[in-house]
Amino acid sequence: MGASRIVILGAPGAGKGTQAARLSAAHGLAHLSTGDMLRAAVADGTPAGLRAKEFMDAGQLVPDEVVFGVLFERLAEANEGYLLDGFPRNAAQAEELDRQLAEQGAPLELAVVVDVPDERLVARLTGRRVCSSCGNTHHVEFMPPAKEGVCDKCGGELVQRSDDTEAVARDRLEVYHQTTAPLIDYYNARDLLASVDGDGPVERVTQDLVEVLSRDVAEQN
Ligand SMILES: [Zn+2]
Repeated sequence: MGASRIVILGAPGAGKGTQAARLSAAHGLAHLSTGDMLRAAVADGTPAGLRAKEFMDAGQLVPDEVVFGVLFERLAEANEGYLLDGFPRNAAQAEELDRQLAEQGAPLELAVVVDVPDERLVARLTGRRVCSSCGNTHHVEFMPPAKEGVCDKCGGELVQRSDDTEAVARDRLEVYHQTTAPLIDYYNARDLLASVDGDGPVERVTQDLVEVLSRDVAEQN
C-alpha cells in the first residue's frame, strides 16, 4: 500500500487541486481542501462547523484552533487516507498538525510538492480568458478557443479578468514562496518531502504522483 496520509503543496496555478482531485478519485483518498472542508462543516452543522460559522458570519478569519477542529472531524471519517490541500499554510500549523496526529498515532507519511517554474506559472495564471456572456472559461495555451477572443460555447467576447493579470500573478507567487518555503524546509527536515515535476500534461503528472505515493512508503517500511 502507498502513502495514505499526505499533504500536497504547490503554487497557485501548479494544478495541485486538480491533481488532488484525480488522486482522490483513483485511490479513495479523501481530498480535504480547507475552504471546502469549512463550507461542508458549516452546511452539515457539525460542532466545529457551528463554531466556524460564528467567525465566518462575523466576517472574521476562522482561527487555527477551529480549523483544526473541522479538520479532525473529517480525518476521523477518512478511513482510506487523505490528501490535505491548502493546509497547513505555515510551519506553525504544520507543527501543530504533527503534534495532534502523533497523539492519534497516525503521523503524516508524505508531503509532496507539485513543482512548476515561476515563469510557467505566470503563463498559466495570466492565460485564462472568461466569456463575458456565459462565463465559460478558455485558456490561451491549454484550452484555446477555436477563434481567438471568441467563446466556443456561445460566441461571446472572451476577456481577461482583472485578477488574472501578470502583476497579480507575481504577487500571488511571491506570497506563496514566502509562506511555503518554511513548510518545505519543515517537511524536508523530517524526511517527508517529495517533489514531482508539475510542468506537463495532467495525466503524466498524476502518474508521477502515484509513483511517488507508493515509492515513498515502500522505502519507509
Ligand atoms: Zn460564452
